This record gives sequence, structure tokens and C-alpha cells, in this order.
Amino acid sequence: MSHSDQPLLPSAMLGILGGGQLGRFFVIAAHEMGYKVTVLDPDPYSPAGAIADVHLCKAFDDSSALEEIRNTCEAVTTEFENVSADSMDFLSKKIYVSPSAESVRIAQYRILEKTFLKESGLPVGPFEIIREDKDIPLETSSIYPAILKVARFGYDGKGQARVASQKEAIEAFHQFSKKECVLEKMLPLDMEVSLVLARDQKGYIKTFNVSENIHTNGILDVSIVPARSAKAINDLVDQLAKRLAEALNYVGVLGVEFFISEGKVFVNEIAPRPHNSGHYTIDATVTNQFEQQVRVLAGLPLGSSRLHSSAVMVNLLGDVWTNSKTKEPEWDKVFREPGLKMHLYGKHEARSGRKMGHFTVLDEKLEIAFQKAMEVRKLLGIA
Ligand code: ADP
Ligand code: MG
Repeated sequence: MSHSDQPLLPSAMLGILGGGQLGRFFVIAAHEMGYKVTVLDPDPYSPAGAIADVHLCKAFDDSSALEEIRNTCEAVTTEFENVSADSMDFLSKKIYVSPSAESVRIAQYRILEKTFLKESGLPVGPFEIIREDKDIPLETSSIYPAILKVARFGYDGKGQARVASQKEAIEAFHQFSKKECVLEKMLPLDMEVSLVLARDQKGYIKTFNVSENIHTNGILDVSIVPARSAKAINDLVDQLAKRLAEALNYVGVLGVEFFISEGKVFVNEIAPRPHNSGHYTIDATVTNQFEQQVRVLAGLPLGSSRLHSSAVMVNLLGDVWTNSKTKEPEWDKVFREPGLKMHLYGKHEARSGRKMGHFTVLDEKLEIAFQKAMEVRKLLGIA
């Protein structure tokens, strides 16, 4: 359903599919503005469910839960791309849904995503769609060394294998039970950056600053803002992200990941939701990415995305807990840093590789924020 011209005002009930940390920040932003929130997530310990007005602890395609959302919420959004696009279609027959099921369908399926990017004239690295053994390029192909990625349900580097040859590509494809894949050429990376934007129901766009991202083991580790890439690169990233959002006719908050390789910019992938690399906006911009998500959903104008401080964000994975002798990090030491903003997600159990929280260090000078962030990282035993 399309939105009426009247924005939703406090204390309307908003719905969100998914109750992880992104959902939790959405709930916080909505609450600050006076809205109520219903969270759908089957996890009884869902970080967002724990602070929501209503937590529907049911599967994402549970028809009674979806029916309840249709009847009690004014509008609904999502916090992760693997939500069923069919569920979103079902909801949109009666209430306002953003982003659209169509955008989510593209973002959750690498084959559609890559094809869409290429057909929209956006720069993407060389790739091949792999459905059977014979789709795997021959040994002599210039695609190797390459990276094989399952087309669905991959995240944080899961469902990916680096392959140096046709033989390795075939082996990896079999390891993935011959599920549909995309084979991408490994690009030599100068840097990875991302950009989060919000596009409202009228088509207005506000982009946040470009974030420079450091990944460790395929998982985002550190984000540095503003990115230290050249201004011409950052301007191009901003332009490409806007073009992409327009080509998708996207409504909502969109995260776009880019590779900078040998001075050229390539789009890596898109996330139809706020993005981990945009968490710095919670502390360093006038309006954060989750408030923009609330604003778009409610039909309000977007807030200012102006950066008011340099920021360095560090993710805290479960390893920080599991590697600590006392199973609890030395928080007292961490909280001594006055420019540090801590965000723990209230997850029930720390597991290796699981995102448990993050912190952002703010400083007028980016180098100082970076140096302090690295010191705290060391304090927490992060290698
Ligand atoms: P995910 O969905 O897990 O975030 P990505 O496609 O973003 O998957 O890959 C995770 C990380 O792996 C990237 O951020 C990058 O560091 C590395 N990577 C992925 N694809 C490539 C590539 N084609 N060339 C170089 N590095 C890559
Ligand atoms: Mg990624």
C-alpha cells in the first residue's frame, strides 16, 4: 500500500521484521521520537524484542504473526535482507511497507543483485553465475584467483570460498552442495568503503559520509569516517550510491559497499537496511541511520545527515568475551576513555564471530580518534 500524504505521528505503532541489533537501534530511535514498535523475531532473546512494545516471538513467515502486524501496525520495515519477500508482499496489501519486497528480493539474491547492478550501468567487477559444474570458467580464464559466493543467505563472509583455479572452484562449489553461486574475480583492493543513504517516499535522498572499512576474516572490524580516500573517489561513491538508489526506486535506508581497486570504484553489494558501517552515525551525525529509517517509514522528511565529529567505530565480536580469562571484558578500563561511546546489544550468548556490540571514538581529529580506538581495541584483547 502506498503512504497517505499525512505522515504517521507519535504514538503510532511501527513494525519491524527482525529483532537483531539493527532492529534494536530502530526501536531506540522510534521510541525517542515517541513511536511504538512491534518486533517480529522467533528468538526469545532477540535484542530488539527485549525493548520493543510488542515482541511477536514467531517465525518470519508465521501467518498469525503477519496478520497481527497487519492489524496493529501502521507501517512496517525490515532489518535484515533474508526476511521473506513474500511476507513483505503480504503485508503491503494492507499497510505501508518499505523497503519494497522487490528491492529486498534483489538484495537477498546475489545473482539478481549483480545482474541488476550491471544492467543499471553501475561498475561491478567481473563475475560469472554458477548453477552447474559446466558454468565454472576454464583454468585459463582471467577470473582466477576468484571468490565463490553462495547466491543466497551469505553474510559476514559465510558461504564464501577463495579459489585459485578451476579445480578449486569445482571443489568449493561441491562443498556448497552445488547451490547457486556467483564466482567473482578477486580484486586487488586499495581500500573498502561504504555509504549509507536514506531515500524518502518522495524520492529525496540524504547520503551520509563515506566510511572506510577494514574487514577481518570477512567481517567488518573497523570503520573510519570520513574515509581517507581521495575526494574525487568519495564524490564518485556518493554519486554511484544515489544512482543505484534511484535505479532501484528504493525507499528506505540503503547500505552500499564498494571496492576501490587500482584507483577504480566498484560496487560490491547492497543491504536494504541500515548498515554496520553506518553505526558511527549514532554518535557522530545530526540524524542517525535508524532515525532516518523511522522518518522514511513514517513519511516524515529526512533529517540532516551532517557529520559533527570524526569517528572510528570498532566492532566487538563474541571472541572478546570468549577469549577473556574472566569471560567478561575489562569494561572499567574501557570506560575511562572520555571520547568513547559504547553500545552493547544485550545478546544472550557470546559466540566467536558473533556481533555483540561496538564502540565509537569521537574526536575533532581523525588520527586521534583512530589512535584511541586502537588502544581500546588492544585493551580488549582484539588482535
Ligand atoms: P558479505 O555478504 O559476507 O558481506 P561480501 O561480498 O561483502 O559478503 O564479502 C565479504 C568481504 O570479502 C568483503 O568485504 C571483502 O573484504 C572480501 N571480498 C569479497 N569479494 C571480493 C572480491 N571480489 N575481491 C576482493 N575482496 C573481496
Ligand atoms: Mg559485505
